[in-house]
Order: sequence, then C-alpha cells, then structure tokens
Amino acid sequence: MKKSYLAIIGTVILANSQLTFADNEQEPTEIKYAVGNVVREGEVYLPKWVRNEAQVNQVLSHTHACADNLNLRYQQMTETQVTDSCKLLLDTEERFHQIFDSQNTPVLHDNNRQLRANVYASRDDYVKYVTDHFDVPSDNGGMYLEGLPHLENSRAEYVAYLRNNKVWNLNHEFVHYLDGRFNLYGDYCAGLHDGHAGPEYCAKPAPQPPYLIWWTEGVAEYIAHGDKNEKALKLAADKTYKLSELFYNSVANWSTERVYRWGYLATRYMIEEQHEKVDEMLFFTRQGDYPRYQSLVKSWGSSMDEGFARWLDEVAVN
Ligand SMILES: [Zn+2]
Repeated sequence: MKKSYLAIIGTVILANSQLTFADNEQEPTEIKYAVGNVVREGEVYLPKWVRNEAQVNQVLSHTHACADNLNLRYQQMTETQVTDSCKLLLDTEERFHQIFDSQNTPVLHDNNRQLRANVYASRDDYVKYVTDHFDVPSDNGGMYLEGLPHLENSRAEYVAYLRNNKVWNLNHEFVHYLDGRFNLYGDYCAGLHDGHAGPEYCAKPAPQPPYLIWWTEGVAEYIAHGDKNEKALKLAADKTYKLSELFYNSVANWSTERVYRWGYLATRYMIEEQHEKVDEMLFFTRQGDYPRYQSLVKSWGSSMDEGFARWLDEVAVN
C-alpha cells in the first residue's frame, strides 16, 4: 500500500512550488486535490483519472496506439472499429495541419504531446462510469479534457462512447485537442470562456465577451466535417444570425444550432474567405494575448456581415 502510494506521489505534479514532501519519509496526513483546472493554495493538481488509473484500467482494459501521440483505451471495440477510428483521427490531424500550415509546432508551454481517447462500450456504460473515473458530467456526447498543458507530465484525454458502431463525436473532440495545442495558448480557464462547468470548473467571474466559443466549436465542426455538414448548410439560407453576432456566442446564449451549426458556418466563412483575418487572430491567440484578440474582433465590427450573408446563399442547400 505504502509503496504504491509513494509511486503515485512520485508522479504528482506539484501545483505549487512551495509544496514539498519531506524526504518522502512522512506521508502527508491529508492531501487536498484541486478540482478541475483551478488549483488553490495548498492543493495538489492530480486529476482523478491519474489517481484512479488502476480502477479505470479495469473497465477500459484494452489499448491500441494509432500513432506515437495518439492512443485508444477502450472497453470493447472490434478490430474494424479500432482501425476506422485511427484512420479518421490521422486523416483529421493531417487536414488540420494543412489548413493552418502549423508546421507541427505547438504553442509555447504546451506539453500535451499525447492524446488518449477513452472509449466506453455504450452510452449506458459512459453514464455508469465516466463521472467516477474522470470527474466529468455524463450528460453529454463526449468531452475533451485538456488539463493543465503547461505542466511537464501533462497528457490530454478525451472521453467518449460507441454509438451506431462508431466512436461518437470522435473527430469533433479530437479537433479540440489540436486547436488547444496549436492555436490557443494556455489551458481552457486561461482563455476566453464563460463556462464554469466541468471538466475545468473555471473560477468565476468570467471575462467579458467576445469569447472564443464561436471559434472552438465552429472549428471542431469544420475540420471534422469539411464541406459535408448538411445540418448546418440547410440552415444557411435562413440567415438567422449576422456574423458579428456569432462572434459573441456564449454559454448564456447557447443553443445547439447557434453554437455548432452557425459556429461551423461562421468559422468556415472566416477560414475560406477571410484567411488573413484568421491568421491575424491566431497570431494573438497562439501567444495567449486574448485582450488583443478581443480588440481585433471588436474592430471587425459588422464589416463582414454582408459578405457572410452573400456567402450563405452560395453554400446553402435545401
Ligand atoms: Zn465541442
């Protein structure tokens, strides 16, 4: 017991440099673990899935490496499901790097070299285990857990489940990883958000808008689906939102249509028609200069609204 305890402590990522374990001789009587991404004084950042590794492995008892940086850990998958999932992810990764010409260079201080997809056998299994294993809510179709990427031993995880013979939302969640590693400096709470729910449980209050939700969810849909996103393209002709409104997407005005479908349309328009502006924006977000990102978006104002409306007519499908 003691041995394994110390082994775990050996991998503890010290959240606070003053925190030390005296010569490893004395076990601290009580360790306070940080909840989500917020590490308060005296707390240790050691995510639940690291603490519970053995327990999680009992359920997710199979592993497969798609690539050096990309692993699957799963409850039950067929060989075809494993092969298809790896192919989908590797294709997505290639497309991402092409679109952003990233040269495979991550943002500074990002140590999430590896991503592990944790796949439950069904939605029922997901609901049964995921909160216990990963400290995340189960009322969703999968989640990306970036953790604190500046910490040396950091590794990104995502949690998902099989539905209709494939890993549900596999691609979408994977793009969050790529976007976080190559486009957005810092962890989720360090960026622009107004969500305070799990898995990050960022401290309130939120910064002021504009946030990055239009982009993060939009780019996940865009890279995952390319130009084949019928659900979004069928909405295009309605012109429900101006582009300048979509930049202000938030948790407060959240709807599936607005955040995912219209986020897709906004992001696709920006990447395909306003690539220079996207480059300018990413220059700031890659450095974590979020105030300049916000100034930039504000300076765009409604200048692209008409162009966006015309473009919607071009891409709209019935
Ligand atoms: Zn998402």
